[in-house]
Amino acid sequence: MSASFAVVGSGPSGMYAADALLKEVPGSRVDVFDRVPTPFGLIRFGVAPDHFKTKNTARQFARTFELDEVRYLGNVEIGRDLSIDELKDNYDAVILAIGSYHDRSLGIPGEDLPGVYGACAFVGWYNGHPDYRDLAPLLTGGGVAVIGIGNVALDVCRVLAKTPEEMQGSDIAAHALDTIQAAPLDNLYMFGRRGPVEAGFTPKELSEVRDLERCAVIVDDAQLPATVEGDFEGREKGVKEKNLTLLRELASQEKPEKPIKMHIGFYASPVEILGETRVEGLRMEHTQVVDGRAKGTGQTFDVPCAAVVTAIGYQALAPEGVPMDGTIIANNAGHVEDNLYVVGWSKRGPSGTIPTNGPDSRGVVDILLGNLAAGAKPGGDIIDTLLAKRGARVVDFEGYKKIAAAEIARAPEGHPLEKFTRIDEMLALLDGAS
Ligand code: NAP
Repeated sequence: MSASFAVVGSGPSGMYAADALLKEVPGSRVDVFDRVPTPFGLIRFGVAPDHFKTKNTARQFARTFELDEVRYLGNVEIGRDLSIDELKDNYDAVILAIGSYHDRSLGIPGEDLPGVYGACAFVGWYNGHPDYRDLAPLLTGGGVAVIGIGNVALDVCRVLAKTPEEMQGSDIAAHALDTIQAAPLDNLYMFGRRGPVEAGFTPKELSEVRDLERCAVIVDDAQLPATVEGDFEGREKGVKEKNLTLLRELASQEKPEKPIKMHIGFYASPVEILGETRVEGLRMEHTQVVDGRAKGTGQTFDVPCAAVVTAIGYQALAPEGVPMDGTIIANNAGHVEDNLYVVGWSKRGPSGTIPTNGPDSRGVVDILLGNLAAGAKPGGDIIDTLLAKRGARVVDFEGYKKIAAAEIARAPEGHPLEKFTRIDEMLALLDGAS
């Protein structure tokens, strides 16, 4: 049986799903859509620029696009250029792999002040996402406070703390590198509302801030418990123990005079962002962990800072007509409704690493195949006609390869590439206009 499939989103979960469909239904056709011209989603825009080797996963996914049965339709936004119903009507099954590409809010006073950024925007800015090209974060006038103690918070602090030499080999966007290096950063704060044992970061990422050139890490030994207590077992317990060992090492490390201090603080929750016309500080409340949850003590303290970055997790935003369940797309083991499915962060929330998406997407494809009637829908041809009628400017994989080659050709010394950060620039390049 052959069939036609649409995958919306070309990040890891979408690409694992496309691979599984091709493997399980030989002869089927898969159209992969992305709303920006360049594919691979989180790999290009989420993984930290100095974790450039992790971005090599994209090579594996690029091979999928070389297959005749697969098409890449970049620069096509579902909800703008095509509706979900049009996809459902024209493909045998549709898989949403749209990630959790929106910041959650803290819901505290001062959150709308200039100088407050969600990690999605901030990470997108230094990774050259067109949506955040003009974010121009306010990094002058004091330190930066990051809320959250997951790996994203560590990524943000590390990218801010590294010297240009330490960022060699990364694909950080030039506009961000320039702004960060021009900023008189002195203090970086990373606050967790719970304790070191509950922290979301992992040992490898924590160890990466241990020996930075211009940044010393400050941890208060008094906040570190003697052992890992609680409901943790096996691998998870091992991770917690390694985190604790590393934190102890950081707490006892001799602190050479370095221009930047990165304070990792626990048991503190934000209650207000302070400032008149822009961020001037952050009011934090001391907490205690009761039954695994952070509980405010009523005692507050203020931290002066010029910017606040919230790294508190992301949420999905569904295209019109697709039901949400809190911060994810409503689904039952990946099935949304009719012939519509969801994989990845938009299915289960923002957790796990890139490979976590492999089994997750394959599991959903198994369910999809169990429900699939004999392939009968036309797939791409009608969709192409609709897109042409609407004047959509589709970027195919050959187009993307031209963009990628130009990005490598214009790389500054010591960097593998320099991304195009504006969609107009990419389209002009394809038109041969620049
Ligand atoms: P995360 O690990 O869930 O961290 C979110 C942090 O935000 C937690 O410390 C959480 O505290 C805190 N938080 C949530 N709501 C809050 C609130 N209202 N006030 C104060 N703090 C709040 O998520 P993440 O850092 O965004 O990472 C997402 C996923 O990507 C994770 O699975 C992560 O490991 C992965 N990732 C991996 C890498 C890597 O492998 N190098 C890099 C980046 C991201 P509580 O725990 O108390 O809720």
